[in-house]
Amino acid sequence: MRYISTRGNSPSVSAAEAITLGMVPEGGLFLPQEFPSMPPQYGKSYQELAKSIFKLYLTDFTEEEIAAIVGRAYNDNSFPRSVAPLVRAGEMNVLELWHGPTAAFKDMALQILPLFMTASRRKCGDEKELVILVATSGDTGKAALEGFKDVEHIRIICFYPKDGVSALQERQMLTTAGGNTKVIGVKGNFDDCQTAVKGLFADAELKELLAAHGIAFSSANSINWGRLLPQIVYYYHGYAQMVAAGRINAGEPINITVPTGNFGNILAAYYAARMGLPVNKFICASNENNVLTDGIMQGIYCTDRPFCKTTSPSMDILVSSNFERLLYELCEHRGEAVAALMSGLSKDHKYEVPAAVRQDFYGGFADSAQAAAVIKHYYEKHGYLADPHTAVALAVAEAYREQSGDTTPMLVASTANPYKFPVAVCEALGIKCDEGKVMQAAATLSAFTSTDMPKSLSEAAGLPILHDTVIDKADISACVRELLLAE
Ligand SMILES: *Cc1c(COP(=O)(O)O)cnc(C)c1O
Repeated sequence: MRYISTRGNSPSVSAAEAITLGMVPEGGLFLPQEFPSMPPQYGKSYQELAKSIFKLYLTDFTEEEIAAIVGRAYNDNSFPRSVAPLVRAGEMNVLELWHGPTAAFKDMALQILPLFMTASRRKCGDEKELVILVATSGDTGKAALEGFKDVEHIRIICFYPKDGVSALQERQMLTTAGGNTKVIGVKGNFDDCQTAVKGLFADAELKELLAAHGIAFSSANSINWGRLLPQIVYYYHGYAQMVAAGRINAGEPINITVPTGNFGNILAAYYAARMGLPVNKFICASNENNVLTDGIMQGIYCTDRPFCKTTSPSMDILVSSNFERLLYELCEHRGEAVAALMSGLSKDHKYEVPAAVRQDFYGGFADSAQAAAVIKHYYEKHGYLADPHTAVALAVAEAYREQSGDTTPMLVASTANPYKFPVAVCEALGIKCDEGKVMQAAATLSAFTSTDMPKSLSEAAGLPILHDTVIDKADISACVRELLLAE
């Protein structure tokens, strides 16, 4: 299998090269030249399913390599209960993607991406030490730290806004062990962190200096093919579980609703369908930052709008990078057409989305109040406790069914454990709690619902703080230079 650029500006590369490079050096994202076919699979373990899908895409990896990587990423240690269980909530089939070490769906990909990267670089003969730079507003940082912790020849440096993440998220990051991890608080907001990290990636002089020391920067964000590929697996797994539970007959089509930010998760569902999973409609659920809703339904993708802070912060995004990969399909594989749309985005902050998007996709949004009402309703009516991101998806899935009359069985991706957002969940349920006291809110939630906080979160409270560096936003570059070039 070869990988090509969404913008038609690069020769094709192998899977290992696509994963090592992360994105197309000239701009653009890698995607497989064609989608292999695979009918729904039944009776397979998550690991077996992952192996059979990876084999089709990672044709430059041996079966032994793939098996070793899958075994290390998805096991009873990292996913003690089950990798991605399906739970019934009223009419909805909820696929829970947060049973990994940090209790958020990012684990599904970040537990395996570092292993793909190490193997890929070995194949490409890349001897440099990799330094993963992450700017995080919360969830990605911890999931990346856990994934990259103690992976050979890789270091990870994670910047977060000192006063811009929840106390629980901060605690999770600051207690990260591993000799190759560094977590740094920044006096500034998330944008300051992100801008500084982007500046470091773009600094040609620094790149040269690091290369002389045998070091290269890399990123763990969701445009890397190695992060998207693992996400295809759980849609096959969810489908098989729906059949096993008698919710559908084998071969029957389903609809899939995904709470969307960077468009990676829902794109993986679309890729599963391109391979042969029977899916009728993809429902893209957004919060108040509803750029995608307008892009899909009105045909204009426009980022010139205010940025809203919501109770579903992992979806507070205006530029959904992975949408570019869907555009490639919508533009009938004409890379120049995608490149033209992307240059429109950087020049005019908008572009026209081809109308073909509405054949397969529907876009809807729910605001924080609607999400809160859904949390309460699902808890009281169905005994299901949803986090605010999953609640956005449930709200939009219901609205879609009502408006369209389409009663195709619905799979809903659930992306976070409700205990990751205990204050918002308590407030939705009408339980009083103190905004600033996250652990207290989690304890209140546990008592009220008679459910347990996940171990990884409760344990973070007792673990020692291992990182205590806080710097000025102006000093990010100097700090990285000092960390990497001091010796
Ligand atoms: C990252 C994230 C999302 C958005 O997923 P994308 O692949 O970026 O669309 C949704 N919910 C949670 C909890 C997340 O962490």
